[in-house]
Amino acid sequence: MNVAASPLSVIAGTPTGSATALAAVLHGLEPHLVQVEVTCSRGPGGFQLVGLAEAAVKESRVRVSGALAHLGVLLNEYAVTVNLAPADLRKSGAALDVAIALGTLAAVGRLEPSSLHGVLFIGELSLDGALRPVTGVLPRLNGAASEGVRSAIVPPGNAAEAGLSRGVQVLVAGTLQRILEHLSGQRLLATLPPTKLVPQPSLTQGDLAEVRGQTSARRSLELAAAGAHNLLLLGPPGSGKTLLARLLPTVLPPLDVEEAIECTTIHSVAGTLPSSTGVVTERPFRAPHHSVSDAGLVGGGDLPRPGEVSLAHHGVLFLDELAEFRRSAIEALRQPLEDGRVCIARARARAWFPARPLVVAAVNPCPCGHWGHPRLTCKCSEFERKRYRARLSGPLLDRIDIHVQAPPVEVAALMRRSGGESSARVRERVTVARERQKHRSERLFGAPHLNASLPARYLEAIVRLDDASRSLLEDAVPRLGLSARAFNKILRVARTAADLEGEAEVLERHVVEGVQGRVLDREPTL
Ligand SMILES: [Zn+2]
Repeated sequence: MNVAASPLSVIAGTPTGSATALAAVLHGLEPHLVQVEVTCSRGPGGFQLVGLAEAAVKESRVRVSGALAHLGVLLNEYAVTVNLAPADLRKSGAALDVAIALGTLAAVGRLEPSSLHGVLFIGELSLDGALRPVTGVLPRLNGAASEGVRSAIVPPGNAAEAGLSRGVQVLVAGTLQRILEHLSGQRLLATLPPTKLVPQPSLTQGDLAEVRGQTSARRSLELAAAGAHNLLLLGPPGSGKTLLARLLPTVLPPLDVEEAIECTTIHSVAGTLPSSTGVVTERPFRAPHHSVSDAGLVGGGDLPRPGEVSLAHHGVLFLDELAEFRRSAIEALRQPLEDGRVCIARARARAWFPARPLVVAAVNPCPCGHWGHPRLTCKCSEFERKRYRARLSGPLLDRIDIHVQAPPVEVAALMRRSGGESSARVRERVTVARERQKHRSERLFGAPHLNASLPARYLEAIVRLDDASRSLLEDAVPRLGLSARAFNKILRVARTAADLEGEAEVLERHVVEGVQGRVLDREPTL
């Protein structure tokens, strides 16, 4: 239809065309395809966006009209209706911009509507029509692939993670203009080659060789890493608890490719992918401040976002000053740590995120930090000390297998090169011990558990105590007032100590290590 020739056609409401472009939204990690249906009429009528769009989607009107003006299409000359279907699905974020813009371009006749078929569009637009990176590209692509979508166009800033997707041809475009050229067949975009993901050992936090002294704390890092045991470091300020915690990732084996992709997906949704690589290659280390909100720690929000416990998935979650965390935040950690995932239920959406970090907590021995110090005097009353300790008990402590004391060491001495064993050496032993556990568990129980997460009913089958170990425990249990739960933790840690040595059976010295890991049960010695 030649609109300029017919005076009637400029009346608002006269249809000029319609088109549909494909986009995707996320609820948690779960992708949903969205049909962006655009209808345009000649004449001023404004820009209507319907279909349960959140504020950020509504703002796309401004960005899309800016980007289209750059291509010579002035939206105020049209009445545009954009319907996001299905209507009952919540849509959020700026990632729908590109699909809305292309649907509009096709509806006003700048593009053949059929050229949009079967292509997923992901990206935010700047006012001059450039494609900006968005969060959650990898899960959107994988979701689209599973729905049979064959091709997708993403912003250059998302190329690294997009290259990890499987089953969909990914193209990268820097501008809306460039997508127009591609879809009209003038100049095709090149297919993005797959990203080669090479997981690395975590070396950014330092090296264990830098730690002087702290023999028992070093050993506890090795045990924690080998059996995936949660760890509590108890010691005065300046004992290097934070340094020790930061070094735990360095003795863990590198992520495997599947784990790295899982971490990349979570960090992609959270918008916390490392800018240097664009993908996660190292085990994450997360150290939220004790003032963190419950939602910040476990995830939440109206549009569910992963919390620290999920951002630390497959890595280390460090809770420094554990006693200072809000009780509710620590309570909120209980279920995720039990289940290995977080579920966030909202009125219109339910999201879940994986959450399987190794937890390291650090605490002072008392509020002033000097209780038990060889030189300094504790200023706390007995009541204050007791109340402080009481704050530590509860759901999180129940999930910690090893408590270890980090005695005060001058920071300078701690940092001096001591020629101690390097992280790489410890990591080798840890890796072998982990393989041993997985093989055994696979063979006996059909699943590759590490000792910390092995179901309790299987413990007896992998820890057969000799007479010496048995009498040692019979003596220790009543003396330390150990619960059945603590008893099981001793067996798990003892099993890990034996696995680190390649011992088939748990021996007395391994049980001793398990018992030594119950510092908080041995109250009087502190
Ligand atoms: Zn004190």
